[in-house]
Amino acid sequence: MSLFIGVPGFYYLYMRHYSEKPWNVKNEGDYFPPVTILVPVYNEEKIIQFKLENLARIDYPKDRLQIILVDDCSNDRSMRRIQEFKQSRPHVALETLNNSSRMGKTAGLNEALSLAKGEIVVISDADCFWPPDSLQKALGFLSDPSVGAVAGLEALLNPRDSWVTESEILYNDAVHTIRTGESKIHSTILFQGGLGAYKRSLLKSFDLEADDSGTALNVVQKGVRTLLVSEAVYFTTSPNQWKEKIAIKSRRASQLVRLWFRCLKLSVKGELRIPWKIFVPEAFLYLVNPLIFPLIVVFSVIIVFENPVWLLGFATLLVVGFSFRKSRTLILEVVQDHLVLLGAIFSSVLKKRISLWTTVRTSRASLSRRMLEEHGLV
Ligand code: GDP
Ligand code: MN
Repeated sequence: MSLFIGVPGFYYLYMRHYSEKPWNVKNEGDYFPPVTILVPVYNEEKIIQFKLENLARIDYPKDRLQIILVDDCSNDRSMRRIQEFKQSRPHVALETLNNSSRMGKTAGLNEALSLAKGEIVVISDADCFWPPDSLQKALGFLSDPSVGAVAGLEALLNPRDSWVTESEILYNDAVHTIRTGESKIHSTILFQGGLGAYKRSLLKSFDLEADDSGTALNVVQKGVRTLLVSEAVYFTTSPNQWKEKIAIKSRRASQLVRLWFRCLKLSVKGELRIPWKIFVPEAFLYLVNPLIFPLIVVFSVIIVFENPVWLLGFATLLVVGFSFRKSRTLILEVVQDHLVLLGAIFSSVLKKRISLWTTVRTSRASLSRRMLEEHGLV
């Protein structure tokens, strides 16, 4: 029990301490390298118009910005929407790559790499929206030769939708602090698809096994750093239904479990270039804690059966925990995350891999023009 709460708790506080330290990297304000933005698109007719308008607002020298939409044979009206946009706004330079079959986001993006002319390649999911200056803010950090990749920070457009999105906020805040601390020490490899910028020279291909985070690990292994840049915010919506949130979390968990297994193998060989003080607690969080969790549950049940007096104690604890909104949300989030990770550990042992998925509908449906306008995104 003390390990289960102690390790994450201590790591969180330790990283919070580091997250407040100043950056130890060079950050040039007037750094404008040629950039290629890759946008993976699969059946996004509901939101693609918003994404295109958002891309058109990026504040960056036009002659150094290439944008490629990578479509994997969408079978809805995504392509038609893209063509209409190109006709109505011909001055916005947009290229499209139509892959010949549905190969999955990462494999699809790899097809586009040979078309990328930029020194920097940036991934931007269709359901993520950048404030106009986020790209510049992120790229500033890449002016330092010791930095190989940077990620932007996710913010939610629908934080108050339901308890599902509220608990996501708690989770995001904790992970944000940890990733910032790791970045200040050396690197964080917890990357997501909303804004990830990589130096082209360090990138052979995007990682098929663990997507954005796997690609970040490959970059770190080249001997450079990968950072989360909190100033480079991007906005997205989170699904407001529990079932969809679990589907996304499961997919992400199975990637991350595989990622930390890979780090474990590298560290056994003495090749891992992430510092121990980051790797050990992270591996514990993703690979050990989820296994401790069912043990705690089983022991609690045994204790209660052996000595019913304990039942009173547990019941009081639960009632108190659940009577405050915040602690209730936190308990549910922790239980949910550990169950999902436990499932991911088992499925990764069975070598199951998810590279194709159906688009999450409620997160697309809860997006509106008004919401985006409020944040100056369209
Ligand atoms: P999540 O954010 O991890 O839940 O994943 P999303 O469903 O939001 O997908 C992330 C991005 O990948 C979106 O821009 C999708 O349109 C895109 N995407 C998903 N599947 C495919 C695919 O098979 N091919 C391509 N090219 N893009 C895809
Ligand atoms: Mn998404």
